[in-house]
Amino acid sequence: MDDGLFEQVNAFLNETFSSFKAITEEIKQYISSFYDLVSVNMYELKGSKGPAVLIANKYGTKKDLEDNVKTNHFRLKNRIVAFKKKLNERKAMIQSGIIDCAMCDGSGNLKKLGWHREEGVVTPTTEKVLCPRCGGKGKLTFDRNDKALINLILARMEGYADFCDNLLELTNKIAEEQMHSSIT
Ligand SMILES: [Zn+2]
Repeated sequence: MDDGLFEQVNAFLNETFSSFKAITEEIKQYISSFYDLVSVNMYELKGSKGPAVLIANKYGTKKDLEDNVKTNHFRLKNRIVAFKKKLNERKAMIQSGIIDCAMCDGSGNLKKLGWHREEGVVTPTTEKVLCPRCGGKGKLTFDRNDKALINLILARMEGYADFCDNLLELTNKIAEEQMHSSIT
């Protein structure tokens, strides 16, 4: 992989990992409030009002706790959908074998600002210089090894997104059952 391509691939993998980290943080919060909701219901079933109220109070009321779980679930669900969409876009891009150079936006040139001085008058000038990342081609190309490596990383990320999706489904089912049973 040449330096220009490496830099660009590295930038988008970094971006992918950042979303991955953000999702992980949100899952942590979601699971924590989900666990609190389960605990509140367990204490209530056991007839221990005190501990149940104590946990629910962290959120305001039990209703606030339930809303917190629902809202976080909804937000995470959307985040994961967006994350998967991005992964698929990246996969398609790599599959095509060629991407636009991000530094010059595919034009192959960069504008260099300068000054021109003549008879005491200074005027600004713009000069076109070859883009250092793509060497003026405007495109960056993946070879077979590049593709294989990046696809492997993206596939792992996709596996993680699927895992989060399943986790959300499962916890949401339990949460809904609990909210339902607590009304009766
Ligand atoms: Zn370029």
